[in-house]
Amino acid sequence: MTDTLDIKITKTSKSRLAETDFSNLVFGRTFSDHMLVADYSDGEWKNFEIVPYGEITVSPGISALHYGQSFFEGIKAYKHGDGKVTIFRPDKNALRFNKSAERLCMPAMPEDVFLQSLAAIVDIDRDWIPTEQGHSLYIRPFMFATDQYLGVAPSKTYKYMVLTCPVGPYFSKALRVKIETHYTRSAAGGMGFAKSSGNYGGSMFPAKKATEEGFDQLIWTDAKEHKYIEEMGAANAMFVLDGKLITPLTQDTILDGVTRDTVITLAKDQGFPVEERNVSVAEIIEGAKNGKLTDAFGAGTAATIAPVGSISHNGEEYTLIDPAQRDFSRKILQTLDAIRYGTGPDTHGWNYFV
Ligand SMILES: *Cc1c(COP(=O)(O)O)cnc(C)c1O
Repeated sequence: MTDTLDIKITKTSKSRLAETDFSNLVFGRTFSDHMLVADYSDGEWKNFEIVPYGEITVSPGISALHYGQSFFEGIKAYKHGDGKVTIFRPDKNALRFNKSAERLCMPAMPEDVFLQSLAAIVDIDRDWIPTEQGHSLYIRPFMFATDQYLGVAPSKTYKYMVLTCPVGPYFSKALRVKIETHYTRSAAGGMGFAKSSGNYGGSMFPAKKATEEGFDQLIWTDAKEHKYIEEMGAANAMFVLDGKLITPLTQDTILDGVTRDTVITLAKDQGFPVEERNVSVAEIIEGAKNGKLTDAFGAGTAATIAPVGSISHNGEEYTLIDPAQRDFSRKILQTLDAIRYGTGPDTHGWNYFV
């Protein structure tokens, strides 16, 4: 732990809190009053500031715009019944932040600086944290290259920012998903494990086609053969097959999700068998046909646990059991919510108090 981070604070003169409709939050559309900004130059992080949320000015020549030197994180903060505010497992995000930075030739940020920056921005807008079940304050740290230079080379200067958004549930119903067997999100040796902005840009076209076909999400498969399941949209894919929790092993094509790790840990706590391994499309389809696939969901910070209602593959649609009848994901979500909202024991010390 280094010294307390020096952050210059300029508060808004007019809060938008009173005019915000917390009963109709669309994910990522409502921003809190403030944002955090910092600069990297001459080999160090500097100018940490909290300012009113608003527009920023950048050069049109920054390599973030031209070559995608940009990545982000996603974390949630919760308000407990006693008014205490916690951030869920941000130390894991600090680690991943630096993995993404390394892959994109961008500067690391010391874990304690990252954590203090999150605590500061959450603290100043703590009145923006919704308390209703399923609601939270979404925290979006991100970094981008700011050199004015059209040559393809890592920038020497960067901006780090943190935005926050009060959010409700990401999905409102069980998802109709399609196993993607043509397009690819990431390939071995690529940057699928990094939370790089470009991974998202490339996923939009296949996702749009799937939406036009009536699906809510895609299940990505391996780039080489499209035989193995990788992820579900921007969440990790998890299944209960034959009484075991199975999920693809993280590798360089798959993002190592905090929610994935949380679900695995809670399952093991409950004595539930877990297998992290290659998961074939064939075994999932077989399980959907013979009823041994008793649960399927996407796991991610934004979506939390998003139940899969049906899976389509090669034009055939398989409807899974009603999410209300699923023991595993319902129990995991209850345990997880109890930790996050402070109504149950946090035996792993996952809550970071602001
Ligand atoms: C963010 C993300 C996830 C989920 O990770 P969490 O840490 O659980 O939020 C999964 N897959 C992709 C591609 C992601 O970007």
